[in-house]
Amino acid sequence: MTPWTGGQVTERATCVLAPNPGPMTLDGTNTYLLAEPGAPSVVVVDPGPVDDRHLARVAAMAGAGGRAVELILLTHGHLDHSGAARALADLVAAPVRALDPSLCQGGEPLEAGELEAAAVRLVVVPTPGHTADSVCFVLSADGALLTGDTVLGRGTTVVAHPDGRLDDYLTSLDHLAEVVSSRGLRHLLPGHGPSQRRPGAVIAAYKAHRLERLEQVRAAVAAGADTAMAVVRTVYADVDRSLWPAAEQSVRAQLDHLRGPHS
Ligand SMILES: [Zn+2]
Repeated sequence: MTPWTGGQVTERATCVLAPNPGPMTLDGTNTYLLAEPGAPSVVVVDPGPVDDRHLARVAAMAGAGGRAVELILLTHGHLDHSGAARALADLVAAPVRALDPSLCQGGEPLEAGELEAAAVRLVVVPTPGHTADSVCFVLSADGALLTGDTVLGRGTTVVAHPDGRLDDYLTSLDHLAEVVSSRGLRHLLPGHGPSQRRPGAVIAAYKAHRLERLEQVRAAVAAGADTAMAVVRTVYADVDRSLWPAAEQSVRAQLDHLRGPHS
């Protein structure tokens, strides 16, 4: 498998890969620069973790040819995506917008619907589940969907319980599948890992995986697993142990889901 290094992924989207590889971040966080060809300004999605080299690289690539950064967007608040937001905002004098008002700086919280910045047209699609504040962005002109950590370029994601909820996550996957098919999207640009060419198939596989895990968790509980970690030991036996703490969060989300509807 060719290692993922970022670069131009669609006509209007370029990925700047952050140097923070790890079991949870895969090759590192994908920072995206979105710009109309030849336009004087760009949108930055997910500036990435606090890292001086990455910040300098993002600012330099965004500012290539004298371009200005018009807007910084966040797919969610996890620090590997948002940590550099304030520093970049100060450096390039651009506002930060996210679903969570506490992450915004000089800009309004995001809402579902159309958004235009730097002549780039986006559609904001709230997709709670990985976290409560997760959003995806449709880059209509390129038929692309930026998914943050809701759908990754490889492997599966974590439902970061208690902030992330499985009920919400499954609903969000269904919503994304609908958005992909109704808009004929052809590219999935994830928050980690390589871009994908068949977003509908990737989302369907995510849904199938979640439901399969849920059945395994149900079976483990029926067989006597009485704590989240006991379930992890059974259901995630095939998964590298460095991922077990994350798996435990997902299991808590699944146990919560199995307990049924509540407020
Ligand atoms: Zn995340």
